[in-house]
Amino acid sequence: MAYWLLLRSILQFKVIQKKLDIITPLPAFSLLSTHEIKTVTTSFVRWVQQVEFAKEFKSLKTSKSVNGCSKLSSLFPFIDGDGILRVGGRLHNSLCNFDAQHLVILPKKHLITSLLIDQYHKRYLHPGPTLLLSIMRQRYWIIGGRSTIRHYIYKCLNCFRLKRIKQQQLMGSLPEKRLHPSRPFLHCGVDYAGLIKIRLNKGRGAKTSKGYIALYVCFSTKAIHVEMVSDLTTDAFIASLKRFILRRGIPAGIYSDNGTNFIGAKRKLSELYKMVLSTDFNNILSTFLSKTSASGTSSRLFHPTLADCGSQVSKQ
Ligand SMILES: [Zn+2]
Repeated sequence: MAYWLLLRSILQFKVIQKKLDIITPLPAFSLLSTHEIKTVTTSFVRWVQQVEFAKEFKSLKTSKSVNGCSKLSSLFPFIDGDGILRVGGRLHNSLCNFDAQHLVILPKKHLITSLLIDQYHKRYLHPGPTLLLSIMRQRYWIIGGRSTIRHYIYKCLNCFRLKRIKQQQLMGSLPEKRLHPSRPFLHCGVDYAGLIKIRLNKGRGAKTSKGYIALYVCFSTKAIHVEMVSDLTTDAFIASLKRFILRRGIPAGIYSDNGTNFIGAKRKLSELYKMVLSTDFNNILSTFLSKTSASGTSSRLFHPTLADCGSQVSKQ
């Protein structure tokens, strides 16, 4: 907005109005034409350059080159037909237009530079420093442009509100099962990955079916045990749990999310556990074992918990 107000103010000067052939005074709220904008922009950019780069202008007019100590020397500047100082560059053979091939040089700290940055930043909906610099470099070369643009965006209130650092959640302490050494898979977590497609046979035209991967992660070693699961049912999970236990031993605790299959498996195992502890079951088992003992086999019963349910039957 400030940029457009500046353009309008400059248009009030009689010198500019004469150049644009404006006979009647400019109405207060009339729109500026493209020709007017271009002429006024050229006029004030030339004025800024003549003030800020006076030495360079003088040496370019006398010796066609700038002093080696000048900050513009690496840009190989030249003065175009409108009296604007532009970057020489190496893009003479490119397909870009003249403005993109030879950028207009602007000083680092000047009101016009700040207003132009402000105009581009608002027109392109508050882009970041890198994007804004690349947009502006299609036409202007600001000396030390990156830091100038970064400084401007740092002060932009809208950007500050949108990109503010959000409050970070403080992580809680790790559970002791994760920190105390124990045998692998004594405490583990389980979850499913997938869905994956499983080929039942080799070769072309083989049928595929859906499947999942049950991942058992050891809490102490971070080792992973992988089991294939055919579906999301409780029975399929219990089958994978059996295979896991046969390979890795009985875990003291398995942790999971509240998946339906995990809850179903827990319910089934709890029912089984209750049945093992029931008097009827123990009576039937005792009767059976006494009969086998009479036939020459001795038995010792262990308390049937998940952690130590290894009942041993040894032949004498
Ligand atoms: Zn902004």
